[in-house]
Amino acid sequence: MIQYENLKTLNRPFEEKLRNKFDLFIAKGWYILGDEVALFEKEFAEYHNEQHVVGVANGLDALILSLKCCNFQPGEEVIVPSNTYIATILSILHCGLTPILVEPDPKTYNLDPAKINAAITPKTVAIMVVHLYGLCCEMDPILEIAAEHGLKVIEDCAQAHGAKYKNKLAGTFGDFGAFSFYPTKNLGALGDAGAVICKNEADSHQIRQLRNYGSEKKYHNSIVGYNSRLDELQASFLRVKLPHLDEINNHKRSLASIYHQGLKDDFIKPTVDPDFHHVYHIFNILHPKRDQLKQYLLDHGIGTEIHYPVAPQNQAALKNHLTHFEYPISSQIHLHTLSLPCSFAHSKEDVQRVVEVLNKFNP
Ligand SMILES: *Cc1c(COP(=O)(O)O)cnc(C)c1O
Repeated sequence: MIQYENLKTLNRPFEEKLRNKFDLFIAKGWYILGDEVALFEKEFAEYHNEQHVVGVANGLDALILSLKCCNFQPGEEVIVPSNTYIATILSILHCGLTPILVEPDPKTYNLDPAKINAAITPKTVAIMVVHLYGLCCEMDPILEIAAEHGLKVIEDCAQAHGAKYKNKLAGTFGDFGAFSFYPTKNLGALGDAGAVICKNEADSHQIRQLRNYGSEKKYHNSIVGYNSRLDELQASFLRVKLPHLDEINNHKRSLASIYHQGLKDDFIKPTVDPDFHHVYHIFNILHPKRDQLKQYLLDHGIGTEIHYPVAPQNQAALKNHLTHFEYPISSQIHLHTLSLPCSFAHSKEDVQRVVEVLNKFNP
């Protein structure tokens, strides 16, 4: 069986170092906001050639705290892609703001810059871009629109650690870069974790307070904060894996290139463009008989996933929270997309096998 993902296999190369970290953690007895969090923040900042990183509890909180930091007024509008994972939209709702869904470019699956202007109203305050599947959004025109209208830009980088657009890393374009280190992400912890890249000291200071009960000094709370601290143990694990992020990404890229070269044109593959360094958090294809294809692969011992089976506009949770419910491009992607095995845990032979089986699909 070729599983879609296997976290135990994925983390096997790091096991010894992770165990050592755990032993040190037990020996030290410092559990919350210690040296490991501070060092991970510093190292994650250095990786991005940035100054300000704040570790938080998870990716959703990274988005929420970034929005909170902007001090928007209730009912103000945030532009967000219609085909994102629901967390992006939930972060907007949790801040009392209105998500305005904009359709993606059907070729990149990312926010279509040409459709943003039509969604801007006097209430628009921010654009939340999502670098979906590990491919950066086309940031030049998006940043231009944001500057023209005085909008904040928040990047959801949960799927894009190490991804680049014109040689610049995801998370370094906007006012905030929000990351998740959920175990399956390209840089994954062994539990929940997240971080925010900020562009200035004042914002990082505010997010540091927000993540820790709004406290500047112990028991002195200057703003209404949360408990959203990056866990010390997870930070120590992330410090083991961060130096291997490029290796993980390159491995996924080499698996992706086997798909690109080997798969028949019956399957619509991700776009390839030299301006975009895709890190293939997800390698998806589109096929009109997606469900049949998924079953066929399973019958041949190959596990796949669907990212995502239910579009945001069809989620019961969002029924009373969207302004509009017709998103044909997003709907089409949700119906046809299939994610193929493309993990650090997979070998080239695994992927060659998937290609062979796929190319024989004859519905
Ligand atoms: C995983 C993910 C999140 C949420 O991250 P958590 O750490 O699970 O809270 C947000 N947005 C996108 C696009 C994601 O893939």
